[in-house]
Amino acid sequence: MKAAALKGSRSMAMIELPDDDPGPGQVKLRVAYCGICGSDMHEYEADNPPRALGFLNPVMGHEFSGTVVAVGDGVERIATGTLAVGNPGAGCGSCAFCAQGRENLCRVPGGGGMGYAIPGAYAEFVTMPQRCVVPLPAGADLRAAALTEPFAVARHALIAGRYRPGETLAVIGAGPIGLLTVIAARQMGGSKIIVSEPLPGRRAAAERAGASDVIEPAQLIDVSRKVSGGEGAEISVDCSGLPAGIASCVDATVRGGRIVIAGVGEQPFPMDILRSIINEYSYLAVLGYSRQEFIDSAMMIANRGVDVSPVISDVVPVEGTPDAFARLSAGRDELCKVLVSPDA
Ligand SMILES: [Zn+2]
Ligand SMILES: [Zn+2]
Repeated sequence: MKAAALKGSRSMAMIELPDDDPGPGQVKLRVAYCGICGSDMHEYEADNPPRALGFLNPVMGHEFSGTVVAVGDGVERIATGTLAVGNPGAGCGSCAFCAQGRENLCRVPGGGGMGYAIPGAYAEFVTMPQRCVVPLPAGADLRAAALTEPFAVARHALIAGRYRPGETLAVIGAGPIGLLTVIAARQMGGSKIIVSEPLPGRRAAAERAGASDVIEPAQLIDVSRKVSGGEGAEISVDCSGLPAGIASCVDATVRGGRIVIAGVGEQPFPMDILRSIINEYSYLAVLGYSRQEFIDSAMMIANRGVDVSPVISDVVPVEGTPDAFARLSAGRDELCKVLVSPDA
């Protein structure tokens, strides 16, 4: 089968992988859609991508939906023909963190790992441990379902940040995670949702996602005060992964408020200690989602409780994956979530 593999910095190529039957306890999906994640872009743009050096599987792709085409020995409750999404962070199910329902902190290798330790879904088929398979109701929209993984990330950020719908929420950055944070907040009943984003194409997407106030970064302080009717948002979520994004969160947030760091970045953030103490800001960095949050997210999308379509900007065939990475790297204004589909 065809798959797209990361070969080096800004270098992807199509490879041929064996079309094996699933092993014991494994489930094989024919991929319907797989989203290109910002974290995959980070690896693509890195000078020395670890996976190109052999530390992780070269085939990325962890945001996917599909149809079960084969199951291995010992798989009982998942039948062929079932529509499903894969949870790449399902955890091992038995370590201390998994026992607490914090599968995002599981450190046991092999707890999931599609697109990381094992081949991901920029391919025609993907095989995974049955624990990672979340079956969907018949008739579920597999295109929308491919957004389950990043939607779960966005929901986890709000749940961990103890977001309440009456609060003013500031979202910094309108990439896929920022847009999905808006959609998740709306689903929770929120209405005062500010999005700060420098790129006009992404600001337009934030309007479609349901933000109440979509602004350029320079307007953030004024608008967060106006929308909150006071000194700023009770909670802000950085979805940019940039130090400037976290600084924007500090500007937007009221005394005593919460700053959630959801965007993945590599540069250090110089925290203003005095300002943080005087305002008693809570900073919270968040990772992934729990297994239950993932399942809940899958069901919300499958049951059309949320509309994630404003996040999707393009669908390309598997052979188009290297080109899609190059286009996303060249500019992310109009492009948001690009889906790879063997059927495109
Ligand atoms: Zn992702
Ligand atoms: Zn575990």
